[in-house]
Amino acid sequence: MGWHEIVGHKSQIEQFQRYLSSGRLASAFLFIGPEGVGKHFFARKLTQALFCEVNPEEQCNPCGHCPACQQVMKGTHPDLHYVEILSGSKEIRTAQIVGGTVKSTNETDEYFPGICYEVNLKPIRAKRKVVIINDADTINNTATANLLKTLEEPPPGAVIMLIGTSLSQQIDTIISRCQVVTFNSLLSEQVQQILLAKQIVETPQQASELSMIANGSIGLASRYVETELLDVRRELLQMLSVLPQQPERLSEFVSSFINKKGDSRRAVIQKMEFVSSIVVACFHQILLQLSGQKVIGDAVLINTSREIADAWQGDVETVLACIDRTLDTVFHAQKNANVKMFVEAWVDDLSQIWTVGGFKLPTTWVPKKKPHSLHP
Ligand SMILES: [Zn+2]
Repeated sequence: MGWHEIVGHKSQIEQFQRYLSSGRLASAFLFIGPEGVGKHFFARKLTQALFCEVNPEEQCNPCGHCPACQQVMKGTHPDLHYVEILSGSKEIRTAQIVGGTVKSTNETDEYFPGICYEVNLKPIRAKRKVVIINDADTINNTATANLLKTLEEPPPGAVIMLIGTSLSQQIDTIISRCQVVTFNSLLSEQVQQILLAKQIVETPQQASELSMIANGSIGLASRYVETELLDVRRELLQMLSVLPQQPERLSEFVSSFINKKGDSRRAVIQKMEFVSSIVVACFHQILLQLSGQKVIGDAVLINTSREIADAWQGDVETVLACIDRTLDTVFHAQKNANVKMFVEAWVDDLSQIWTVGGFKLPTTWVPKKKPHSLHP
């Protein structure tokens, strides 16, 4: 139950094994990497390694079973202090860092001692205090100023881990006081492995389909499962294969999917990004098939792209033009609030490029008209 529960991130594990075996562990770390790749789980595992009551910390090998290890995973260990965005809030509240009360969503006051205070207390069960600050991208200026003092003069033995998605979201003074550990997206096979191990999906086929759209993130994959986006993907690919015959079907389907009542502007853009990534992935497969290369992906994607590639009248250039036009649509979605308009324009252009592909296109192909000139 030790590190093997973590899929990927091998070099990061080895890095911490070196620190602990040599007794040289820094006091503050900034874990940076895409959402949902396991940074938080890694921080918990590292805390287990520090608190484990079976294997000494120099071994950096948590047993996973002892009471301390279990308390770390359950979040009940008295020496692990954990901070994350409170529900209904958009940022880490100052009180969570320096102490004070926060009004919760049901209007009751919730008191926080503040991690700057808690980290200075004498450890109760372990030899040191550990603080994990999730969502560290969202710490406000007041909280940051206070946190900096603790990072500058941490109590002996304390370990503070901040978890964020990008260095650009952090201020220089935080970065310079922390050791930065970078986490990469997971490989498609690793995503599949975790999805099955955590029983997020039931079959290897579902795991394979999800991993194709999850962009190396388990967080994203889980969200896609919850919102039944796999079904949307299947339907979308099926409609794409008959686009030249039934363009209006695709355009109606996409419009109604990305423009549900009550959706925020952001949700609309995210859904257009989702649609665009599926369509682009499919055209990439078509490119591979047309150029005789090995295809990768799940059965649904491979079958659809094979069907389209077999009937493709154009050349590689026309496929590239379809990819370009699809990528443009996300840009149009950001600029233009009229969903029906930019979706129809995209499907219309796509179907034109697709059908004129049978004719010899000039090598420097450009659309005759600026696609419905969507931007002002
Ligand atoms: Zn243990």
